Amino acid sequence: EDSPYSVSNEDPVVPLPRSTDRRWSDTSVYARKKVLQFWVQLPCGNWELGKVLSTSGEESVVKLPEGNVLKVMSETLVPANPDILDGVDDLMQLSYLNEPAVLYNLEYRYNQDMIYTKAGPVLVAVNPFKEVPLYGNSNIEAYRKRSNESPHVYAIADTAIREMIRDEVNQSIIIRYVFEYSGESGAGKTETAKIAMQYLAALGGGSGIEYEILKTNPILEAFGNAKTLRNDNSSRFGKLIEIHFSETGKISGAKSRVVQCAKGERSYHIFYQLCAGASPRLREKLNLTSAEEYKYLQQSNCYSINGVDDAERFQAVTEALDIVHVSKEDQESVFAMLAAVLWLGNVSFTVIDNENHVEPEEDESESLHSLDTDGLSTVAKLIGCNINELKLALSNRNMKVRNDTIIQKLTLSQAIDARDALAKSIYACLFDWLVEQINKSLAVGKRRTGRSISILDIYGFESFDKNSFEQFCINYANERLQQHFNRHLFKLEQEEYIQDGIDWTRVDFEDNQNCLSLFEKKPLGLLSLLDEESTFPNGTDLTLANKLKEHLSANSCFRGDRGKTFTVSHYAGEVTYETTGFLEKNRDLLHSDSIKLLSSCSCHLPQAFASSMLIHSEKPVVGPLYKAGGADSQRLSVATKFKDQLFQLMQRLGNTTPHFIRCIKPNNVQSPGLYEQGLVLQQLRCCGVLEVSIAAKDPLSVSVAILHQFNILPEMYQVGYTKLFFRTGQIGVLEDTRNRT
Ligand code: ATP
Ligand code: MG
Repeated sequence: EDSPYSVSNEDPVVPLPRSTDRRWSDTSVYARKKVLQFWVQLPCGNWELGKVLSTSGEESVVKLPEGNVLKVMSETLVPANPDILDGVDDLMQLSYLNEPAVLYNLEYRYNQDMIYTKAGPVLVAVNPFKEVPLYGNSNIEAYRKRSNESPHVYAIADTAIREMIRDEVNQSIIIRYVFEYSGESGAGKTETAKIAMQYLAALGGGSGIEYEILKTNPILEAFGNAKTLRNDNSSRFGKLIEIHFSETGKISGAKSRVVQCAKGERSYHIFYQLCAGASPRLREKLNLTSAEEYKYLQQSNCYSINGVDDAERFQAVTEALDIVHVSKEDQESVFAMLAAVLWLGNVSFTVIDNENHVEPEEDESESLHSLDTDGLSTVAKLIGCNINELKLALSNRNMKVRNDTIIQKLTLSQAIDARDALAKSIYACLFDWLVEQINKSLAVGKRRTGRSISILDIYGFESFDKNSFEQFCINYANERLQQHFNRHLFKLEQEEYIQDGIDWTRVDFEDNQNCLSLFEKKPLGLLSLLDEESTFPNGTDLTLANKLKEHLSANSCFRGDRGKTFTVSHYAGEVTYETTGFLEKNRDLLHSDSIKLLSSCSCHLPQAFASSMLIHSEKPVVGPLYKAGGADSQRLSVATKFKDQLFQLMQRLGNTTPHFIRCIKPNNVQSPGLYEQGLVLQQLRCCGVLEVSIAAKDPLSVSVAILHQFNILPEMYQVGYTKLFFRTGQIGVLEDTRNRT
């Protein structure tokens, strides 16, 4: 079997197999244990409950609910739990913890709008894709008073607050999805994060700042989310929001940290909102037209979202910006940058054959002319630069060759790349700048005596038909997060057992250190080699692929494939990457000419952007340096920047007590009431929830379950912290039972 949950049949003491896949060969054992129903896997892969009519050695005859009778191999039957356990709110309460049982339990609850279920220490949240009556003040109150104890994000947030106060340790709530095959998740991470924030704001309220904190959501979503095929409000960045508390338990401030890696090239909500909602005055000032007129917005060919009024949203965003103290003047600068990005997209180029200038060796003797002077002059006005300089930056490149500077004319496609890179950089810098402004506004005072709860909303592993640099970064980040998760749950668990004198060493957990080393090892790891190749002017996607194969094949998590591809065995499964575009994306296409242009602008935002892009040599530099073009423009590679962000994030998380929430998407069509077994199972398998449940099921409750199964009545024994104590004579009864079975 290629399942990561390998089957171990050797353990006679602990009856729960490590694998949830364990099949049972002897149905007669179950007859004695009064197991009446079994899960039968149909050819389509779905599980159904069946009753065993007869067993003849290897084969059993089972009856399905609709009356169909099926002959199956006995060993494929999986024991089902008694009806009394239907819909238990913690999977660990199940007597038989196997895949169909877990699937069934989640579905049972989902059908009754109980979308939250515990899997031991992890909260599983199944996206309802509709409003469920679980939120709001009365519910918050019920969880605060603990009069409602069913699993909920509120309960997790409540525990976090209590533990923060009790242990004086910072807390984190880590919300993740597991493995993305399609490109857009929509599993419910962002909604879950907001629900947790709601609870914290309600409980830590009173200082007034909690209202501001909640207002950061519409801003970050407007600038960081976009409509995609599978999610009308898909996050294009990962974020960690830290909420700080004063000693008295009131919220004292907040800080957002962003883990960014360009995720697709969709257009963010704010563009449509601006086009729909700007006042006539602003419209004129920014030379705005309607969304349909902008090339960048035409790509998705979709200008509105069902049930969303963009103009209204624009008002809400400006109000939110007011609330977090972004001045009206700054707001206008922000909108000017947005308009500049839109207009940049409309700058088109045309190629004119230059007949006077014949270069025999060159095909590219054309020269470029920008057509759309309207767009160009608007961009120049909006960012405050000279129109000719803008033109030059988009059509020429200054190259330093030894001590000379030569000017190279860009080809058509290079010019388009330069234009798009400039637009993307302006937007990315704008986003970072906004986050910084919000953080300043919500900053905690200098006396940082209080504690914090951080909420992490970040994308999961991704594996598509084609995986490129973006997936490479995202999956690397997930590998780190997975390690954090594994180490926390399994290692701590293991230590506890060892302390209690139980030999738990046989249950080793899946560590992914090997895969992380593959990425991080210096100098021979994926990231180092990528950065090294990015600094070679002659490096290509193929030389990169070859270099990786040459140096990394010894790592069992790496496999060099044909041509430009390689495969990494990630925690969640294998992902094959194509190195096409890796170097370009890692180098960051933005030319130093464009950065110079921004720094020459008269507006303060582009200037600020330019200086944030350059790492001046006097500043300490972390990681390898990539020199972009001119010697004066030293910049970090994209992968290194990403790694730095990730390390900061992990460092933050490392000092907290984590609480984990796993979001599950029950279907791919955003539809309420539709629960696709196969899809859910895929997600459960990849995320380690099943494993966690089993590892966390402690030997004591396993022992009690055994006693229960052998009809030893609870009055006959008492459960101590580490031992079971039997009434006189009971050991003898147990011995007899053992001899009989
Ligand atoms: P992405 O990875 O694309 O950012 P995500 O995991 O953050 O996706 P969300 O944006 O949180 O997903 O959720 C997608 C949609 O699912 C929401 O817009 C909402 O319609 C629905 N949804 C999620 N959670 C809930 C919930 N608890 N109650 C009601 N609807 C929900
Ligand atoms: Mg999201």
